[in-house]
Amino acid sequence: MFSPENPVGKSGDLETLKIQLGLKCNYSCSYCSQASFTESDVKTGVGDVQQFISDLDKWVTTAPKRIEFWGGEPLLYWRRIEALIPLLVNKWPAAELSIVTNGSLLTEDKVDVIISNGINIAISRRPGTVHAWRRPLRQAGRS
Ligand code: SF4
Repeated sequence: MFSPENPVGKSGDLETLKIQLGLKCNYSCSYCSQASFTESDVKTGVGDVQQFISDLDKWVTTAPKRIEFWGGEPLLYWRRIEALIPLLVNKWPAAELSIVTNGSLLTEDKVDVIISNGINIAISRRPGTVHAWRRPLRQAGRS
């Protein structure tokens, strides 16, 4: 596990801040590169968001250009995303926010939040897999 005490040699002067919300996913793709990782024993939740934002100052020394939410499947952690968005926008208003998702858990409400905050979404999919036939934006009435 990476931490301020074990930073794997990376600098705090970064362009993209990747926030891994957790490793849980509602799919179990055979090619998943994260399947071999196990969740930390440390359990976190929405109540830890403010502390996380404060602790970022220990890790990040310049304003990132981009902030990406990752999982597992990040939309499983939607309440945390909703809590993080205003705090991150307040902290780094020029940063571009993105969510990398399999798209299957998008709903009208989530799409509204994504659009109103100008968040990019990148939907992971491979032709012929379950991702390909799910059309989350269409399901959410936005395509
Ligand atoms: S949707 Fe992505 S994170 Fe989930 S199991 Fe498949 S490859 Fe892994």
